Amino acid sequence: MAAVPQKHTKPEILVRKICHALGRRFRLHRRDLPGSPDLVFPKDRKAIFVHGCFWHRHGCRLTTTPKSNAEFWQEKFDRNRERDLQANVDLQYDGWEVLVIWQCETKDSELLVERLATFLTCNQVNESK
Ligand SMILES: [Zn+2]
Repeated sequence: MAAVPQKHTKPEILVRKICHALGRRFRLHRRDLPGSPDLVFPKDRKAIFVHGCFWHRHGCRLTTTPKSNAEFWQEKFDRNRERDLQANVDLQYDGWEVLVIWQCETKDSELLVERLATFLTCNQVNESK
């Protein structure tokens, strides 16, 4: 997994802490799932990705592009985006609910708690089960 250099980044650890505080149990980096989501809630069939803005090309001000080796970087970035997109599609096709948290969105922790709580508590799909 050379294209994804950072595991257990600060934003990811913060998201984990919040989910813990919300009393939810989760698994980390399930490799058997598309894109190996950072947090997986198997019972609820929910998955969370915590994306670094640079590597995953959020488009915010953290999404800088190195000046040298531009072509190399562009290819790398394109592959990352493609993989993210595909993982999202595959997961949803398999009935997973997916939430993407961007690195820059973890700055406002109150908002982050709210988003995570909403995502983890509402059951849009499997209500009848
Ligand atoms: Zn961002």
